[in-house]
Amino acid sequence: MNYISTRGDTTRRKFCDILLEGLAPDGGLYLPEQYPQVDSATLAAWRDVHASQGYAGLAFEILSLYIDDIPSADLKAICAKTYTSAVFGTEAIVPLKKLREGFFLEALSNGPTLAFKDMAMQLLGNLFEYELARRGQQLNILGATSGDTGSAAEYAMRGKKGIRVFMLSPHGRMSAFQQAQMFSLQDENIHNIAIEGVFDDCQDIVKAVSNDLAFKRHYNIGTVNSINWARLLAQVVYYFAGYFQATTSNDERVSFAVPSGNFGNVCAGHVARMMGLPIQQLVVATNENDVLDEFFRTGVYRVRAAADTHETSSPSMDISKASNFERFVFDLLGRDGPRVKMLFTDSLANAGSFDLSSDPAFQKARERYGFVSGKSIHADRLTTIRQVFEQHGVMVDTHTADGVKVALEHETPGVPMIVLETALPIKFAETIVEALGREPDRPSKFEGIEALPRRVQVMAADSGAVQRLIAENC
Ligand SMILES: *Cc1c(COP(=O)(O)O)cnc(C)c1O
Repeated sequence: MNYISTRGDTTRRKFCDILLEGLAPDGGLYLPEQYPQVDSATLAAWRDVHASQGYAGLAFEILSLYIDDIPSADLKAICAKTYTSAVFGTEAIVPLKKLREGFFLEALSNGPTLAFKDMAMQLLGNLFEYELARRGQQLNILGATSGDTGSAAEYAMRGKKGIRVFMLSPHGRMSAFQQAQMFSLQDENIHNIAIEGVFDDCQDIVKAVSNDLAFKRHYNIGTVNSINWARLLAQVVYYFAGYFQATTSNDERVSFAVPSGNFGNVCAGHVARMMGLPIQQLVVATNENDVLDEFFRTGVYRVRAAADTHETSSPSMDISKASNFERFVFDLLGRDGPRVKMLFTDSLANAGSFDLSSDPAFQKARERYGFVSGKSIHADRLTTIRQVFEQHGVMVDTHTADGVKVALEHETPGVPMIVLETALPIKFAETIVEALGREPDRPSKFEGIEALPRRVQVMAADSGAVQRLIAENC
């Protein structure tokens, strides 16, 4: 399997060549040269593998089709080590919760940080450690976070050989629970840096440090953001696992509803569908930041300015642009790299938007690729959290509530709907209290986490100071 860029660079690269990379050199995103096709015999075999060898066995089968530069036995061991009940809380790893006939939640949020990002990040941690050891290299991961990504990265990389994490977060602006999750880590290779500023200041520092090419090379600076192909690939697995749990025969079709921000999660669903998983619809649910809903309704992709990006009660979906969206546009436009390049460079730079409404390809987004969309706002979130609790006795978090709300608008008779549960309610307790008048349940391992000793340094928003800190710790 080879990987190419969405912007026309057709240099063929192997999985491990792009594992530690973010963007392709031409600014595009990596995708496989073609999607491996899963015929009905293979799908039947995978159903058996899932039943007999569990999630890790299924992950190995799927990843093997995309990774041919890690020996099979090693890849199998990495999958087995990653997807354990000790790390993810259940044998099923991603158990399905039936709310009623034909309507399910798929639990992706029982990993160490209680959000779906653990599903991919835990694998990434083990792949990174393996590949760095093979190359005799070290990696310094520099990131900016407003919550879920940073903690998922830290819990995946803690104690890993050859890896250090320097994670910037806006001082005092994450929820008390999120701060406690990150700052209570005492591992030597994890460095929490609280920046006196907002999230954008943190991101600007990451950019400034990454643009200092000499520094970047000398200290082997890397990232773990959501455009990383390995993260996306890891997420493909739970679409198959959800399908096998919701159906008894491979003649059935299902739909997935996905709370979306950067389009990473639902893009994995698109990949699963392209491989041949019988998915009827991919339902994209956005919050007030409705860049994606606007596109799927109108054909216009319009990036928002910072001032038009809302701070919402489903904060992990607060995006101004959807960084993985280019991957889908590449497929939608028949993999025309030069055209994608023009849209994502010239058009976005000049007009802040592009318009595919009159392009015949746009019709295909729904008809051929199964995409539909909808939007959920704060009031919807409260209503949905109440409804699901009253009718089914299940507490959902704010992001999952957005998914449920939009899923209900797109149900098709006879086609099971699976809503991806992307976080647990305890991470967003304030809104749960607003909706239900009570605190969400707290998993026992998180009792008293706010009182644990903290390892964090507060710093001014100064990229030079961050560079000095990295240098001192290498
Ligand atoms: C990151 C995140 C999302 C959005 O996922 P994308 O891949 O960016 O679309 C949704 N819900 C939660 C809880 C998240 O952490």
